[in-house]
Amino acid sequence: MATLPSGERAKPLPEWNGGLSGRKSARKAAVEPMIPPVDTPKKTRKSRASQKDATPVDEPSEVKRPKTELALEIFRNLERFPHCLLLTRVGQFYESYFDQAVEISRLLNIKLTSKSWGGQRVHMCGFPLQHLEKYLKVLIRGHQKSVALCEEFRVPNPLSQFERRVTRVLTPGTLIDENFINPYENNYLLSIGCPLSNQLEENTPIGLAWMDVSTGDFFSQTATLGTLHDEIARIMPKEIVLDEQLKTHKDHAVFRVLAEKPSVFLSYVANSGDDAVSITQEEIPYSDDISLPAPILPRYASDEATAISLLTSFLQKNLLEHMPRLSKPLQQGSDARMQIDAHSLDSLEIMETMREGGTTGTLLSVINRTNTHSGSRLLARWLCSPSTSVSEIATRQNVVSFFEARPHLRVDLIALLRRIEDTARIVQKFLAGRGAPDDLRNLATAIKLWEELRERLTLERKMEMQEQNVLIGWETVDALVSRMASLRELSQRILTAVLINEDETEIGEATPEDPVDPLVAESTPKTTPFAMYKWTIKPEYNPLLEKLHKKLDALVKEKENLELDLQARYFANSLSLRASPQLGFHIHVKKRQASKLMANSDEFSPLSESGSTKTFFNQRWFDLGTGIIKTAESITEQERAAFSELREAVTKETQNIRKNARIIDELDVTLGFAELAVERNFVRPVVTEGLEFHIKNGRHPSVEIGLLNARRMFIPNTLSLDPDARLQVITGPNMAGKSTLLRQTAVIAILAQTGSFVPADSAQIGIVDKVFSRVGANDDLFRDRSTFLVEMLESAEILNRATSRSLVIMDEVGRGTSISTALAIAFATIHHLYTNNRCRGLFATHFHEIVDMLGYNEETCRAEGHFENIAFYCTDVDERPDGSFTYSHRLRPGVNRDSHGLKVARLGGMPNSVLEVASKALEHLHGSTKTQWLARAAELRSLGERLVRE
Ligand code: ADP
Ligand code: MG
Repeated sequence: MATLPSGERAKPLPEWNGGLSGRKSARKAAVEPMIPPVDTPKKTRKSRASQKDATPVDEPSEVKRPKTELALEIFRNLERFPHCLLLTRVGQFYESYFDQAVEISRLLNIKLTSKSWGGQRVHMCGFPLQHLEKYLKVLIRGHQKSVALCEEFRVPNPLSQFERRVTRVLTPGTLIDENFINPYENNYLLSIGCPLSNQLEENTPIGLAWMDVSTGDFFSQTATLGTLHDEIARIMPKEIVLDEQLKTHKDHAVFRVLAEKPSVFLSYVANSGDDAVSITQEEIPYSDDISLPAPILPRYASDEATAISLLTSFLQKNLLEHMPRLSKPLQQGSDARMQIDAHSLDSLEIMETMREGGTTGTLLSVINRTNTHSGSRLLARWLCSPSTSVSEIATRQNVVSFFEARPHLRVDLIALLRRIEDTARIVQKFLAGRGAPDDLRNLATAIKLWEELRERLTLERKMEMQEQNVLIGWETVDALVSRMASLRELSQRILTAVLINEDETEIGEATPEDPVDPLVAESTPKTTPFAMYKWTIKPEYNPLLEKLHKKLDALVKEKENLELDLQARYFANSLSLRASPQLGFHIHVKKRQASKLMANSDEFSPLSESGSTKTFFNQRWFDLGTGIIKTAESITEQERAAFSELREAVTKETQNIRKNARIIDELDVTLGFAELAVERNFVRPVVTEGLEFHIKNGRHPSVEIGLLNARRMFIPNTLSLDPDARLQVITGPNMAGKSTLLRQTAVIAILAQTGSFVPADSAQIGIVDKVFSRVGANDDLFRDRSTFLVEMLESAEILNRATSRSLVIMDEVGRGTSISTALAIAFATIHHLYTNNRCRGLFATHFHEIVDMLGYNEETCRAEGHFENIAFYCTDVDERPDGSFTYSHRLRPGVNRDSHGLKVARLGGMPNSVLEVASKALEHLHGSTKTQWLARAAELRSLGERLVRE
């Protein structure tokens, strides 16, 4: 018996492919797609093979398609997913062929090669499995592409070893657990449901639905065409989905809005027309606000339902086999939230800075003290849509106060929070049919930490009771924590099932040296087939598994005995029993010890030889090895089943896990607010239903920290926008702090309604429903609109939308036009805000003439007549006898008619002759004597009065 029929020898090998290797690199890439194969393979809907030949290389018409299974598969997938780049797994590589290979190799900067296929040369490129995430990041994040991922599965059918199918299409908005998702922000996919007709008005209702597939955060809302831009700015989606029918309506009003955010990835999906409510499977809506009663029966408006159905259709089309079970979206009413429109989000630098869209110095970055990823996502959501409910705000503040008063407790809870994994993401992975044993372990640990956190609070309670005999400020925290579900049973179940393997807990980045296929590593001494199995489930999990492990142990023992026995019988201590893809089960021995084996040809058939070693086939080892593999495979199968059971157990608890996670997020954010308050000296604002607005010694949190870093002091300012002074005109020289004051006022209102404490000595704020912040445009020139037009558009928005509860901030609006036009428009704008909108607001301007038009009285520093509820404040410079000056940054009542512009000009190095001419011109323009300018002021004042009367 010289050689062995190759089929027999090769038989076990395919089985090892992708086996549960312990190698970190291979594990992440290879195991995940390989977990499902034991399920009966799902049949992909085979699309009708097209009659036309597709276009492989240079001269498309002459090229015929290769007829191999793989080529046909690829063509089918290219046709099925025409908008995607297709990556096909072939063994240990992801590959691309034909025309797309050219594009992919260019985008990824990898080598383009060609191969002879079906009698012609076709383009191809590819990369090893473990580089998948890296390259997906380049394609999806870097180049904004959609990628269809065709995986390879083992099938029990011995005739075809593999089945391939596209398991998922990845787009920027449908990422599940890719490691390039930014864990600190939500990765939203937003769908817009709107009428297809082009007759849309500003107030036409539009439905929105948005979901973060990686966390399960799912919301819906109705908006209007007019507010769509603001909603998009707030939600910050990574991808927007529209009805496919809109593709042919490029003049549709929605596209005008979307043109403002050209960086967002746009996708289309056919509206299945399914009733959105019936698509969703879980009855209870996803809950974002734990402190409010859960909305049990959401009723979705028709456009909202359309949006939900578009979103779910799109997810189904792209997530395919990884479609998670969905909860109903949480409906967001716009009344319950403070609306911060897109321009205000920008100009107040809440999420991004104005300069280059960076994040350092943003309000979010300056106030963020959270210790978990999901906590920082919640903070971002709260900050973009603060509450308008006094009781909700008070609830949050109560928790902040509670933590503020307990520094030691804070320290302990922070230490716990830092160790908690992102459970929302873990659950979501499981709902999408993904996840690994690591995730189970992390979830169990998180549940344990939640318990510890609760226990720590209980301990605190006990100690306080002992020390003070009363409990102060516990109500809200108690109420919050009492809503946490006990999940001890689940964590127990996981911990008794899952093996804790210390060296496996962190998943290292794959390094290029890591061999791709664990079996190719023949150089590893004593490669045995079972060495690559790493068990993840404890044998005691069930009797069958225990039996299989016993069997495996016995077989391994038997193998060791056989090895010892052979070594002894043939006096060959170099003899070992091995397995490799090339040789199957074989006996490996040094050449010089091989002669006795050669002589026993009934037991050993030679297989191969190299420099100093020989290998033989041995039937006993073959049978034993096959037995080992079979048993190990059975264990693997049982482990998969166990994993599925555990995954099922986890997904059953989805609601409870999410609820607990959400409570922990809330504790994380409020604890962070407490840290911030202590660290930065913030106080608890009094938030009321009234219209008052008092800030004593307020500061701008970002400017303050910037100055502190430069060892400079921030000068606090006091401001009262009472009903009798609800609009204020702020004048003053350049650089004296007008803009800072305006922004800090809006920022303090936003912080207060987010539930945070505020940078001031005290604050009393009547709920603000909308914040509008406009800064004289000087940065909008890159768009195809003049500065002035932009300003007018933005001002119009405010005049149309501000209510008596709104806070309006207008900073030097009217820059891009002549002085008289700017004055005229400024006057009319203030008139409208004062008379019609009746909102609270600050109006910073250089044009002090406006104050005369408003009836300013130099003595009382107040307006007389129609505008009696307008107050006037100004910033100033401190002049020194030597002619130099400093900015005081302190607000005082009154008007500053001196722009000090010439001083700044001198500071800027303008030639003296120029300054002389300029100051003469100024004298002429403003009037050189007091009588002259008083006369001019009186003239303006009567003009204002006349305009109001008309
Ligand atoms: P304006 O709008 O009047 O031209 P800004 O508000 O832009 O002035 O302020 C200019 C600079 O002055 C800011 O960048 C900041 O460094 C500093 N500044 C502003 N307000 C204060 C303050 N209250 N205390 C200290 N420095 C301030
Ligand atoms: Mg300014």
